[in-house]
Amino acid sequence: MCARGRYSFPGGVHPPEKKDLTSDRRIQPGPTITEVAVMLSQHLGAVCKPLVRKAQAVQVGQKIGESDAYVSAPIHSPINGKVKDIALRSHPVVGRSPAIIIEALPYHPTRRSYFTIEEDFNTDRYSVERICEAVREAGIVGMGGAGFPTRVKIEPNPRLPKHTLIINGCECEPYITCDYRIMLEWTRQIVAGVRLARKASGCARAFIAIEDNKPEAIELMDAAVKKYAYGDNIQVIPLKTKYPQGGERQLIKAVLNRNVPTGGIPPMIGVVVLNVATTAAIAEAVIGHLPLTHRVVTVSGEAIARPGNYYVPIGTSVEDLLEFCEGVTERCAKVVLGGPMMGIAISDLKTPTMKTTNAVTFLTKEQIGRAKFARRQTACIRCGRCLQACPENLNPTKIAHAVKHNLLDVAERYYMSACIECGCCSYVCPANIELTGYIKTGKIYVARQRKRMAQ
Ligand code: SF4
Ligand code: SF4
Repeated sequence: MCARGRYSFPGGVHPPEKKDLTSDRRIQPGPTITEVAVMLSQHLGAVCKPLVRKAQAVQVGQKIGESDAYVSAPIHSPINGKVKDIALRSHPVVGRSPAIIIEALPYHPTRRSYFTIEEDFNTDRYSVERICEAVREAGIVGMGGAGFPTRVKIEPNPRLPKHTLIINGCECEPYITCDYRIMLEWTRQIVAGVRLARKASGCARAFIAIEDNKPEAIELMDAAVKKYAYGDNIQVIPLKTKYPQGGERQLIKAVLNRNVPTGGIPPMIGVVVLNVATTAAIAEAVIGHLPLTHRVVTVSGEAIARPGNYYVPIGTSVEDLLEFCEGVTERCAKVVLGGPMMGIAISDLKTPTMKTTNAVTFLTKEQIGRAKFARRQTACIRCGRCLQACPENLNPTKIAHAVKHNLLDVAERYYMSACIECGCCSYVCPANIELTGYIKTGKIYVARQRKRMAQ
């Protein structure tokens, strides 16, 4: 098949990809750890309540936290060990949040081998209810970064019937290659997961969308679909390489040429979007009866000594990963959970990895120095580049200006809440105005205002 992508979306940017640091690094087992911190809040929706107490012994895969709420997902112990404490730990999004700290048993392996499908499987064996229940019980959430509980996404909903499933294999952020390696190495699991998700959601067709800077993944996935799709309507579709092609709304525009309503969600137009790692986790949960306790994390950036793709227990600290990768060079100046465009900078190396942590990126002083954010900011020169780059067709300069002057109602009139925080506007601004920073701050203030009003 032709691996050249024709499909795309309006706006966006093409930052240096920097994927060659890790794209040829096979998925390797991560560090042997002594302790994990499993956050009670690592997905969108209700926070889990602990099901274990201090000093209790836990087994790998044991459910340790759950919530009764519909939009939530349970959490499980990734290792055999003993609960050391339930205490606050640094959380990349909410600051500090409670976590279950588990001490590994001495002489007990903390590495889990990868799940691989050996047998020829038949999705007829699994009913829709069984697939949805297995996905819920395994605690699967969107592993591409959003963390929305997957059962809620795929479960049939008579009010919002779905017709198209899109599997997101774009991985458009610089440096990150974990999804790419998963597509190369766990190809069959992904196809199995797509078939199960398609069946559960009732979608008539499925697309596996991959950016055309990954021709090997496109070839392999296409061959696997031809061999293992068993008549299911699944198609591999190459897309143009452009950031943020992996954004849910941009992906739908590129693949189906349809717009998700502002403030709306894909099921409103009958579409479900799942990340490739999430799809592989669905196959693990349904066929292998394995909860989501481990994931592949890309450790990359010019400031890390041994970059790679590592399969780690969820809750492994950045510090443990750093030590396993032989530390940083003296030029390291910033640690980001995720990629440099949408990732979140952290100051505490004890911050644990979560179900949504696809990468830890170690950036050098030079890279930050080259970044727009660190240069001197000047006045807006009204060049309009931020408007051209915005994939949501917003006016970033107007919104940022309104937030700067505390005119939140004006910012809202310019659809501030529709911003997906992709960073394209800041990236292209020649005046080095941190537009995305202003917009993020404005959104936080509006959310606080609404919360106060609701009380
Ligand atoms: S306004 Fe928001 S959506 Fe538009 S480019 Fe800036 S960060 Fe991205
Ligand atoms: S890109 Fe920067 S300088 Fe140009 S219009 Fe937008 S805010 Fe102003």
